[in-house]
Amino acid sequence: MSQQYDAIIIGSGSNGLAAAIHLQQKGLKTAIFEQASSPGGSTRTEEVTLPGFKHDIGSAILPMGVASPFFRTLPLDEHGLEWIYPDIPYAHPFDDGTALACFQDIDRTAAQLYKDENSYKKLFKPIVEKWPQLEYNLLGPLSFPDHPVELLKFGLKALPSAKMLVNHYFKEDKSKVFFYGSAAHSTLPLNTIASASFGLVLTTMAHKFGWPFPKGGAGKFIEALLSYYKSMGGEIFLNKKVEDVNELPKAKAYLFDVTPEQLLKIKGTEFPSLYRKRMGNYNYGAGVFKIDWALSKPIPFTNEKCRKAGTIHLGFTKKEMEESEDSVHNNRATDTPYVLIAQHSVFDNTRAPDGKHTAWAYCHVENGSTKDFTKQIEDQIERAAPGFKGCILAKSTMNTHQLEVFNPNIIGGDINGGKQDITQLFTRPIAKISPYSTPNPSIYICSSSTPPGGGVHGMSGFNAAKKVISDHFNDLKQK
Ligand SMILES: Cc1cc2nc3c(=O)[nH]c(=O)nc-3n(C[C@H](O)[C@H](O)[C@H](O)COP(=O)(O)OP(=O)(O)OC[C@H]3O[C@@H](n4cnc5c(N)ncnc54)[C@H](O)[C@@H]3O)c2cc1C
Repeated sequence: MSQQYDAIIIGSGSNGLAAAIHLQQKGLKTAIFEQASSPGGSTRTEEVTLPGFKHDIGSAILPMGVASPFFRTLPLDEHGLEWIYPDIPYAHPFDDGTALACFQDIDRTAAQLYKDENSYKKLFKPIVEKWPQLEYNLLGPLSFPDHPVELLKFGLKALPSAKMLVNHYFKEDKSKVFFYGSAAHSTLPLNTIASASFGLVLTTMAHKFGWPFPKGGAGKFIEALLSYYKSMGGEIFLNKKVEDVNELPKAKAYLFDVTPEQLLKIKGTEFPSLYRKRMGNYNYGAGVFKIDWALSKPIPFTNEKCRKAGTIHLGFTKKEMEESEDSVHNNRATDTPYVLIAQHSVFDNTRAPDGKHTAWAYCHVENGSTKDFTKQIEDQIERAAPGFKGCILAKSTMNTHQLEVFNPNIIGGDINGGKQDITQLFTRPIAKISPYSTPNPSIYICSSSTPPGGGVHGMSGFNAAKKVISDHFNDLKQK
């Protein structure tokens, strides 16, 4: 077969699309092969409960979509993308009816924290201010830092566990629980080294960019990326599961938006046994149990801050949060899990029929778990929003197996393409100067199993595409 493309991308998740767009922008001829009947991977919107109720099956709140140094350069508004910014990025309620809100304004956020007001400012102000100097190093593979002093200062805060960080900075239990809410996105136990980094980065996003989501559903983000890609001549083929590289048209580079377990099953890669062995040792993280609801009215949160927030973190005490995230890794399912909720329809009336609402939530579970956590999640929501269960018109639930059927990259329910602990944070899938390349010079990996890991930021795809350009198309101008 003669060469028909410069590069072929396997998988149309946000990283696959980012890679394809960057290569196409450089004037290369590219195509995407996607196994599903719709593009987007874990970023798709579907009516899974009742007609007219639009649910984000996977990713729902996309701060990194606006903050991404690559995505923010793209003219996505010209391709139909509209961002919606909830009044409050995220909130965290307590059993006594109070709540803490992460406002975009740091001072306003800190002012709620009593004795911890100054510590909060001391923790976040320098990171938010210096973010432009940090972002490329934090959103790429390990490399010599552009701003070593700033990175060192960030590292001193980010390397400890979330537990160590809150005990060092905060006196009030509520401040500690509030920080845990964003640190627990790591899906790591809160006493794990570097679990603090997730809380720092995600809260920095909230202060610097907000925690927005696309009007009409997360799938609209993918539609805009795809529309831009196609406007430059890019091609996509759906329902094309790639099982053998030799089935694909000839190209100089093949970029796989898949995780190591899947890449090792692809035939024709001719990987040496040592690489196979190292990739075979890659670790997957905890899974999630996901629920989407169609509601007769918004979630009746007791506290107004929660009613005005796009995202709500549930976990009512420090002990409850710590035990919840610990239990996931120790095969001890808890009845009071940490729950993440998104309530798009409160701010976006295109998500549900007139006067009706949607809600999205998940909790962390053991990888591969088939246990149904509906009761535990709904009970947690009732604590902050009495009467919630009475608003439910319909629901759709997905355990880890069902999520993996929805998208084969969600191995055992792991939504981040692999465990994000210190051993795999910057050196995923294996420790290597360029984690995007493989021993086969034409095969690359561009998924969230490469740095910077999970999230809709496209930086894994962008970084992999840059590596492809420097390896095969060096005459093209590098950014
Ligand atoms: C329930 C859930 C909630 C989440 N919430 C958020 C959130 O709110 N905010 C956020 O930023 N992130 C969130 N995430 C994480 C985010 O969605 C992922 O990190 C992101 O989608 C990773 O993008 P990707 O391109 O690496 O892979 P994916 O999105 O997984 O895309 C991979 C693509 O490759 C395709 N593919 C796989 N194998 C083959 C093959 N052999 N042949 C052809 N195609 C193949 C798949 O079908 C898929 O389309 C969430 C994820 C889930 C599941």
